[in-house]
Amino acid sequence: MQTYEEKFNRSIQNTFFTKLTQEEQSFLHAKACEYRFSHQEIKQLVDMARDITLWQEGSICDYFAEHADKRVVLKRLREAYENLRNMPNSYKTFTPKIVAKEQKYTFKTEPKEGFGLGLCPVASEKTRCCNLLTLDAVESCGFDCSYCSIQSFYNQNTITFDSGFKEKLLNLDLDPNKTYHIGTGQSSDSLMWGNREGVLDALFDFARKYPNVILEFKTKSDNVSYFLQNEVPKNILCTWSLNTPTIIQNEEHLTASLEKRLRAARKVADKGVKVGFHFHPIVVYENYLEEYAEVYATLLEMFDPSEAALVSLGTLTFIKPVIKQLRSRDFHTKITQMPHADASGKTSYPLERKKEMFAHAYESFAPWHAKVFFYLCMEEHSLWRECFGYEYATNNDFEREMLFSYTQKLGLEFLV
Ligand code: SF4
Repeated sequence: MQTYEEKFNRSIQNTFFTKLTQEEQSFLHAKACEYRFSHQEIKQLVDMARDITLWQEGSICDYFAEHADKRVVLKRLREAYENLRNMPNSYKTFTPKIVAKEQKYTFKTEPKEGFGLGLCPVASEKTRCCNLLTLDAVESCGFDCSYCSIQSFYNQNTITFDSGFKEKLLNLDLDPNKTYHIGTGQSSDSLMWGNREGVLDALFDFARKYPNVILEFKTKSDNVSYFLQNEVPKNILCTWSLNTPTIIQNEEHLTASLEKRLRAARKVADKGVKVGFHFHPIVVYENYLEEYAEVYATLLEMFDPSEAALVSLGTLTFIKPVIKQLRSRDFHTKITQMPHADASGKTSYPLERKKEMFAHAYESFAPWHAKVFFYLCMEEHSLWRECFGYEYATNNDFEREMLFSYTQKLGLEFLV
C-alpha cells in the first residue's frame, strides 16, 4: 500500500515544485499531508504558486485560508488566484529581474535541411488572417520578450544561420505574375544581427531578383545601418513592433527602447523606405489606454501617412507550451496575469477587452484611416466590424486588400 508521502513525491514530479522557495515547498507539503490533496490538486497548487511568484504577487502561503473542509480551502484559494488574474496589472512596484544584461550567444552556421519559407505559423481559418508567408532567415532570437512563443521552439542562446540560405533564396520558384508578401522576423529579429553571415545581402539580392515580392523586415531593434549604407530595393518594407515604455522595460527584455525604435524608423523613412508599425501585443495594465494613446500620438507626429504602409493590432494569445516555458524560467513577468478566455484553441483576453483596446487604437489613428492599411492580426472575424466598421469575408479577401494597398504605397504593380 503506497503511503501518502510516496503519493505526494510522485505527484510533484514533472511539476515546478523545485522552482518554489523552500518555505513554499514545506508549506505545500504540510498542507497536502493535512488535507490529503489529490495528484491533480497538487499539480494545480504548484502551478498557482509558480504564477503568483512570477507575477510578484507575494507567495501562495499568503492566499491560503485555514478551514476544516478541503473543498472550502481549495475554493477560496482558486478564487484568490482568479482575482489576481482578473485585476488590472500594475507595474508600479514590479521588478522584472531581468535576464543577463548582455546575453551570451553561440553562433552556428551550418547547412539546414529544407528551407524556412511557409505560411505564417499562427495563421488559421478560425481567425481572420492575411496569409503572410514567413521566411526564417535566422533561427532563434537574441531578444527575450516574455510573451514570445519562439522561446518554446528554439534554444535561446544558440543562433543558427543556414549556410545555404543565399542559394535557396535565389533558386526559389515563384510565379512572376503574382504578388507575394513575405515577412522575416518570426523566427528571429530581422535586423538585430545586421548583415551577419551575409543574411541581409542575400535578402536584398532576393528582393532585387523578385520585384513581385513584398519583403517585410519586422524588428524591435534600431540596427538599421545596413539600410542606411545600401541601396534599398523599393519592394522592401521595414516595420517595427512597438509597445509602451512600460511593457518594453518590463516584458521585452534586451530590445531597443521605444525612442530608439522610432528614431531608427525615422532614419529609414527619411531614406524613402516605406515603414510600418505593429502593436502586437497590446497588453492590459493600469492606465494602459493612456500610455498607448501617447505612443499612437507620437507616431502621428513623427510620420506622414504616405511614409507608412501599415499599422497592425494584436494582443496576447497563449498556447500551453509557452505558459509552461514561462513557469520554468527564473524571472518575473506579469504577462500571464490576465483573465484567460478561449481564443480559437489558444487563450487570450475576453472579447470585450479586445474591443476596448482595438477600437481605442483604431480611433487614435483616425487621421491615417484610408491612407494607411490597418489590420487585426490573428483575431476573431467578429472583431473587425466591431472595431474597424468593416470586415473581410475570407482570408483571401483580406490578403488581396493588403497586397493591393502595399503595392500602391510601394509603387509596385499589383499582380493577382
Ligand atoms: S494576420 Fe497575423 S497571424 Fe494571421 S497570417 Fe497574418 S501575420 Fe500571421
